[in-house]
Parts: sequence; C-alpha cells; structure tokens
Amino acid sequence: MTDARALAVEYLKQQRLLGGDSVILPAEQPGNEKRETGNVDVLPTFPVSRVPKTESPAHTDLPSTGISFDPPSADLFATDPIQQTQSLEDVATLIASCRKCKLCEARTNTVPGEGPATARLVVIGEGPGRTEDETGRPFVGRAGELLTKILEAIKLPRDQVFICNVVKCRPPENRLPQYDEIAACLPFLYRQIELVKPKVILAMGGTAAQSLLSTKQSLGALRNQVHRFRGIPVIITYHPAALLRNPNWKRPTWDDVRIAARLLDN
Ligand code: URA
Repeated sequence: MTDARALAVEYLKQQRLLGGDSVILPAEQPGNEKRETGNVDVLPTFPVSRVPKTESPAHTDLPSTGISFDPPSADLFATDPIQQTQSLEDVATLIASCRKCKLCEARTNTVPGEGPATARLVVIGEGPGRTEDETGRPFVGRAGELLTKILEAIKLPRDQVFICNVVKCRPPENRLPQYDEIAACLPFLYRQIELVKPKVILAMGGTAAQSLLSTKQSLGALRNQVHRFRGIPVIITYHPAALLRNPNWKRPTWDDVRIAARLLDN
C-alpha cells in the first residue's frame, strides 16, 4: 500500500470511529461505481487523490498561543485539606463527603473522576449526568461512549486517560452548573491536575474551557489555540454530548483532538 493510500485508510477509519459521514464517490468517474466508504473494507478502490482535504493540524504548525492561567497552588493553602491530599484516592474521599454547595443535596453518588495517576492526558467535562450519578463514574452514558471512541481514534485507550468533570455532583435535570457550584468544586479539579501532572489537558465544552482558564470567552473563540493551565498545554473542543446533537462538529473536534495528540507525542 502506498503512503498516500495508507493515510487515506487511516483517515477513513478515524472518521468511522468518530461516526463521521460516509464518503460518496461520484458515479461518473471512470471505474468508480457510486459506493459508500462508511465501511473501510471497500477502501482498496478509493481514489487517494480525492480523499477530502482537511486543514490537517498533523501537517501544519501548532495553533497560536492562547490564555495562560496560573492560579496559586499548594503551599499557599497548606492548611486546606484538599491541598493536603497526597493521592487521587484521597481527593475522591474528600469529594465523597463534600457539602460545599447545594449539588450535594440531590446526588446519588459523587463522581470524582477516574484514571491512572500517571495519565499523560486529562480530559475534563462539565458535570455528571444521570448515568454518571447512578454509577459514580464519569462519562459512562452516550456521551461517554463517544468520548471513548474519540480517544481510541488517537490510539489512547480510555483506561490510560484521567477523565473527570468540573463539578463532581450531578446538577438537577442536567442543567448547567452554576457559578457558586463551580467555584466550590474547582479546588478539587486543581488538585487532581496537580497530582496527575499530565502532559496535555483536553477541556470539552464551554463550561470546562471557561472554568479551567477562568475566562468568559466563547468556546468558538477559545478553540484552535494552545492555552496553558499552570504551564500545561490545554486544548479546547466541543463536548461529546454536543457532538451527539450536532454531528457537523465532529470534524472540527477531530482537528482539535489531533492537536492534543500531537502535543502528547512531542
Ligand atoms: N457529561 C459530562 O460533562 N460529564 C460526564 O461525566 C458525562 C456527561
């Protein structure tokens, strides 16, 4: 297989993993009957020159530098129990008994996050939904299944990633977390990041992006830049639940995720 064909095969496999649209080959091309390449098995006859052209971040420079947010860390707050935690398990134990905001009242389980303390990537979502509240695990509903596929597409098994949310208890009816709830919960997230020390952070959705970078800028304005949280590169992309509602955002999400993958490989 030529390099170009191998690239095309890889591209279409990734598109399929992400649930992307099928690629239709026009019938009028000699030797190409109309067919769908949703099934990559038909790829051997795919004309490489017509692989859809994307602005592939894999072949361009990294995007421009964005916000750098550097909140004070550990030693300034040495008496705070959160700062005294020494492991992700310690943080989860504190979260389990947390009553700092009203989200504690209706929760079934706290959802501290999961993944190895050695993870190179931290993924941050908004807050637990119903399934997450029932199970105590992050991203296990439909959005979670899509997140797992997105990670597989960059060859990162989900169990090698630390996955968590801005708020650790489910907002009623899946409403957006409110300012005071986010403010109460952020110290847990900060400490989790401090303990994991990831190489890259992927913030999914507006709540994660704005909370982590302490900004009111829109998701659209924040995408396609390399931000920093305490020096760690942060990539912003759409939330998987938003992708389920609007599949047109899968392509830009894929571009964002590939930037994160490149930073991981650097
Ligand atoms: N949405 C989130 O933001 N987090 C989850 O854990 C699940 C859905």
